[in-house]
Amino acid sequence: MPDQPSDPRVSELLALDRQHVWHPYGPMPGRQEPLVVESAAGVRLRVAGHGELVDGMSSWWSAIHGYRHPVLDEAARGQLDRMSHVMFGGLTHEPAVRLAERLVDMSPDGLEHVFLADSGSVSVEVALKMCLQYWRSLGRPEKHRMLTWRGGYHGDTWQPMSVCDPEGGMHGLWAGVLPRQLFADAPPAAYEESYAEHLRDMIGRHAHELAAVVVEPVVQGAGGMRFHSPAYLRVLREACDAHDVLLVFDEIATGFGRTGTLFAAEQALVTPDVMCVGKALTGGYMTMAATLCTPRVADGISRGEVPVLAHGPTFMGNPLAAAVACASIDLLLGQDWQAEVKRIETGLRDGLAGAAELPGVTDVRVLGAIGVVQLDHEIDMAAATRAAVAEGVWLRPFRDLVYTMPPYVTGDEDLARIGRAVRAAAREG
Ligand SMILES: *Cc1c(COP(=O)(O)O)cnc(C)c1O
Repeated sequence: MPDQPSDPRVSELLALDRQHVWHPYGPMPGRQEPLVVESAAGVRLRVAGHGELVDGMSSWWSAIHGYRHPVLDEAARGQLDRMSHVMFGGLTHEPAVRLAERLVDMSPDGLEHVFLADSGSVSVEVALKMCLQYWRSLGRPEKHRMLTWRGGYHGDTWQPMSVCDPEGGMHGLWAGVLPRQLFADAPPAAYEESYAEHLRDMIGRHAHELAAVVVEPVVQGAGGMRFHSPAYLRVLREACDAHDVLLVFDEIATGFGRTGTLFAAEQALVTPDVMCVGKALTGGYMTMAATLCTPRVADGISRGEVPVLAHGPTFMGNPLAAAVACASIDLLLGQDWQAEVKRIETGLRDGLAGAAELPGVTDVRVLGAIGVVQLDHEIDMAAATRAAVAEGVWLRPFRDLVYTMPPYVTGDEDLARIGRAVRAAAREG
């Protein structure tokens, strides 16, 4: 990793961190030293010993408006003066109601009911529970399996892990312990009728035991940063309708404009039965996610022997997060966000163009505000990170991928810098 500073307070933090604190997908004690972030503003992270780094990651897709945005800060402060949190059982409040109203208004037609969850993984748990309970309520408990395509990622809790990529993914360890789901081949980038037929065939053959098909629409994120033709979403919708199977879209990464449309599902003019959102929901300020569903799903559940959805997180509907989420959505919709995402798409295309000629690079792809460079080998994460930091940029490559999804407010010069950093990381990693 990059050289660490000699500041004794920072050294102490790092020593304690290493001794006590788990990091994502990390060993204990830690083997690599993380960077210490002192503060963040706009698109910059202030990092001990390294000055300011341009953020190429939006804190894992979430900080679409950048850090310390005055409008979001004000929303948090205003809500703090009213209340940070109250329980959601038997109580309700304006931030949660207004957020649900906004989500229903902005999401594909037909999604009308909103379950507020506390993280993306939990929203996927809730989505799968909704589907399983729907079929139980209708007296068809044998429809209990999920079908997805390979290369996906849906979170780290138990049911979501079972629909993550079973091999390339991070959950191969749990084979034999997780619920056994059905996996179609990974979707090709372009539309191929033979692959559409493969999807139809699998759904048709397994319909009797299938509760739902669960996929990330258009972009598979942490499972490999692959893009695919939106036309496959229509194939899934038609096959699910024909065979009485529910369709779940996980828009946790793709939601709120990242792929160029507000939700990726819009690119196929398809409404899923259940949809998950998270990540950018609060503009990266706080943890919150949501599961939306159609009246068909809600009515089905309500007709069952147990007519309630048995899920209720302690911090459900957290007012602070909901208030910031409302402000973040208003901020997004109140500007020409499509022009900004387009501008970033163009900037990334220019910035990453040169990467295709680098040794070991097998693919360069850009969609919306997402740029990906794929290599023919596992990246040396420390070397790649060091190369990006030397260019003044924060990137977090993984597996064989150097990728970026910058905040929508990233200026053109900073975008060019990100492009240089991605190329440097691909070269050095
Ligand atoms: C990040 C992600 C999740 C999990 O969300 P968490 O908030 O990390 O639990 C699920 N699905 C997709 C597509 C994601 O990108």
